[in-house]
Amino acid sequence: MALATKSLKKTNHWLSTPEKQIEVLSDFKSVGIKSFGQKLNETDLLPLKPTGVQVFQINVGKMCNQVCQHCHVDAGPDRKEIMTRETMQQCLDALKDPNITAVDLTGGAPEMNPDFRWFVEELSELGKDIIVRCNLTIILANPKYHDLPAFFKKHKINVVSSLPSFTARRTDAQRGDGVFEKSIKALQMLNAEGYGQEGTGLKLDLVYNPSGAYLPDDQSVLEMEYKRKLKDTYDIVFNDLFAITNLPVSRFLDYLVRTDNYQDYMNELANAYNPMAAAGVMCRSMVSVGWDGYLYDCDFNQMLELKLKNGVPDHVRDFDYEKVKNREIIINQHCFGCTAGAGSSCGGTTTN
Ligand code: SF4
Ligand code: SF4
Repeated sequence: MALATKSLKKTNHWLSTPEKQIEVLSDFKSVGIKSFGQKLNETDLLPLKPTGVQVFQINVGKMCNQVCQHCHVDAGPDRKEIMTRETMQQCLDALKDPNITAVDLTGGAPEMNPDFRWFVEELSELGKDIIVRCNLTIILANPKYHDLPAFFKKHKINVVSSLPSFTARRTDAQRGDGVFEKSIKALQMLNAEGYGQEGTGLKLDLVYNPSGAYLPDDQSVLEMEYKRKLKDTYDIVFNDLFAITNLPVSRFLDYLVRTDNYQDYMNELANAYNPMAAAGVMCRSMVSVGWDGYLYDCDFNQMLELKLKNGVPDHVRDFDYEKVKNREIIINQHCFGCTAGAGSSCGGTTTN
């Protein structure tokens, strides 16, 4: 089956709005599972509260050079939402708070924001750890991006990149024709700059996510397999592999509904609820900033437009560390994706 080339939003798909997605997710009774809140309550975690706010995850725009089948952002070349320099400056002001130690830049393809490099340079001045979620193919998409590995190196960026398989067939099926070959070339360019190489301090992490409606395999086993295959076949090295569960949001939700897998998948997630994973969900230590500066508990809540509420300022220009730290995290049924099995976060499993 040919992959979509347009976002759900562009095609006015019925699941393109957060309201419709929340309507589907909220109907847990017809799926035959408990509410996520009830599960949290049974394990003494309701209301779900942060333990701190160490990470600022900033979505600098929904524009992307790819249109991956499972994208929870519904990103693509047709998305025009881009963070302005003014909003970036508001983020920089908020980031003067010493409690926040890391900044995680995501998108879309964050590098497509015209102010991306300016923003990274300003962030570097603040001395925070910087993560960039680079989709790899952007490095080869246009000559103006070819020097990204050197730019990342200059600013000691931790590069985190999706590679759903070490085979071309599976990667291309999820991310588009030719993506695997370009990803391999980009990884070799990053390795040539010292990324993933011992002793350089330049960290290159890969992200695995399942290609269908099932939970990821054991993260450490996958990491060993990836390391062996990528080294033997392409002479590629990297640091850590993060195994991530697909959350039922946006294009993955559409995939589940379209393929009649929604009910089974939600049952699989709910049955695999793990209280230890629930205690370690990433929203307990982060806040997520949208392209327009609004604040959310995580990137998934951002895509569902579930802004911070209950008197907590919901825009980065009014960022208040204490209020964000003491907020109540907004939950819905998609949260089961973070608490199933070994747990799932932007940094992989949450229980080991
Ligand atoms: S998953 Fe990443 S690379 Fe793929 S469309 Fe979404 S933002 Fe772009
Ligand atoms: S989806 Fe977001 S709010 Fe829900 S548990 Fe996961 S990180 Fe927390």
